Amino acid sequence: MPTYPGSCYCQDIEYELSLSSPDDARTSLCHCKGCKKAFGTNYGLTAKIPKDALRITKGTPKEHVADNGSGSLIHREFCSNCGSFICEYGDAVKDQFRYLCVGSLDDPEALPPKGEFFCSSRVNWMPEIPGNSSMSFSLNDGYGC
Ligand SMILES: [Zn+2]
Ligand SMILES: [Zn+2]
Repeated sequence: MPTYPGSCYCQDIEYELSLSSPDDARTSLCHCKGCKKAFGTNYGLTAKIPKDALRITKGTPKEHVADNGSGSLIHREFCSNCGSFICEYGDAVKDQFRYLCVGSLDDPEALPPKGEFFCSSRVNWMPEIPGNSSMSFSLNDGYGC
């Protein structure tokens, strides 16, 4: 079973992601307004993984919960010391999935993207990810950002 270690910037938070196969992670970019704000850059990059695949091995992330503006509660977990964003998930799927911030993995290249969300909100200078154009995901899968 491949395992992927990760941490926040200051390493107060450390975790281990265990997947039966890399195919169990679905990495995607999201260009929505909420992701721009939450990630502090022009898109969000997360890997959808089974909840139990993620094990926090050090520290406890701080949780922020808020309505995304359309009635869905979004949970966001981050390091309370350095502010690194660790994961997020919609309230509807909180017992099933986590959307892990790919940049928090020690090797962010281990789980390359398979698709993009909210492409209509892509900033003008950002190209499409090659090979992903034919893949579109249902926006109703619990991400909810
Ligand atoms: Zn930290
Ligand atoms: Zn988003």
